[in-house]
Amino acid sequence: MMRRKRANERSVALVALATAAVALSPVVPSDGSGSAAASGLPVAEAVRTGAVRNVLLFIGDGMGDSEITLARNYDRGAAGRLTLDRLPVSGSYTTYSVGRGAPDQVEYVTDSAAAATGWATGSKTYNGAIGVDARGRPLPTVLELAQQGGYRTGNVTTAEVFDATPAAISAHVLERDCAGPDDMQPCAPNAVENGGPGSIVEQQVALRPDVLMGGGAEAFAQRVRAGEFAGRTVRQQAEDSGFQVLDRADQLDGLSGDRPVLGLFADGGLAPIWTGPVARRGGTEPTRCAPNAERPADEPRLAEMTRAAVDLLDRKSAGQQRGFFLQVESAGIDNAAHDAEPCAQIGETLQFDEAVAAGLEFAEHNPGTLVIVTADHAQATQIVPNGVPTPGQTATLITNEGSHITVNYATAMPGESQEHSGSQVPIAGQGPHAADVDGVTDQTDLFRTLTGAMGLG
Ligand SMILES: [Zn+2]
Repeated sequence: MMRRKRANERSVALVALATAAVALSPVVPSDGSGSAAASGLPVAEAVRTGAVRNVLLFIGDGMGDSEITLARNYDRGAAGRLTLDRLPVSGSYTTYSVGRGAPDQVEYVTDSAAAATGWATGSKTYNGAIGVDARGRPLPTVLELAQQGGYRTGNVTTAEVFDATPAAISAHVLERDCAGPDDMQPCAPNAVENGGPGSIVEQQVALRPDVLMGGGAEAFAQRVRAGEFAGRTVRQQAEDSGFQVLDRADQLDGLSGDRPVLGLFADGGLAPIWTGPVARRGGTEPTRCAPNAERPADEPRLAEMTRAAVDLLDRKSAGQQRGFFLQVESAGIDNAAHDAEPCAQIGETLQFDEAVAAGLEFAEHNPGTLVIVTADHAQATQIVPNGVPTPGQTATLITNEGSHITVNYATAMPGESQEHSGSQVPIAGQGPHAADVDGVTDQTDLFRTLTGAMGLG
């Protein structure tokens, strides 16, 4: 009750803000692509209540304010704006996790598994947990609740589909590493042969979302160990269960709507679209980022997967009372930050921004669509003065506007994988119920925003 009251108070304030925004003519990007926001209409719509038809949730893995600023500065310039900057309502959310078996013990730096379980279930949990609470008990996720409530569902990532974010909304295991039937040692009670629901990919197939796409074919090549599909690979289990399995980007054209879609476009994660120097102690020569020449041509970009998923889910929900819920994750922002590779990191942030643009394009023609853009946790990236030595690893890039930008990574010893950081991260929204992201909230509040918007209990 308290929460609803607060949201309504914010709504009143936002109506006033929306009116003021029209009068004051807010800053409009020079390319005109932010014109919808400039009209004030999305802000007015953002304070509407009532069930939405569709929800598009975009998660930038490891995409805190510093990571967004780096990509914006490099590509659009310091005074430029990304597409994700243009959503009319924005706030921040806190991202901490808790101890395993110790829900009262706070961990100030979350991983992607606890973070995704937090927004997907509304409960804080431990780092590594996939769809289970701090004591290892399974919790219903927003994707499962949406499916049960009559929404079509989709789950799209540039990581392996069993990676933390897509896993935490569609499976329940004790540890994030329990991807396939051969990986169940840390999750023995969850294994099919022990009477459990199985590994992450076995559970994802059993759940039958309408769309599941990304990389991770390696886990689907493992063999099921017990039950109806014993001896079959998980991919065969998916095919036997009616999935159409895709391996290449060109198969995204003209998808048939009558069967669920499983896209496995790489053995592991999808390759980053950009490459460049690894940051190092003492810095690098100023340089430009380059397209990643080693990226396989048959891997889709995140925006292509997003458009294909939205198109399929929209067609499948045509004529139904309820539309769809789709989660879209750009995972490589985090991976590149772990590796102190600013160009790969920028490329994956821009690839995320393209996917957001594809979502907003759909929302423009489908006004009952709630779009939310956020991150799961912050990362190590810092933008520091040029030419000043730091104890961390640095790289200097030449931006599109011709200036130098120096990026510092110092959350781990040089050469080690950079660690996440514990800062709050941005969250932005557009469409009905978007007002709920205003102000400072917690990651777990997103579960209530999403389920409230969809009218799910
Ligand atoms: Zn990470």
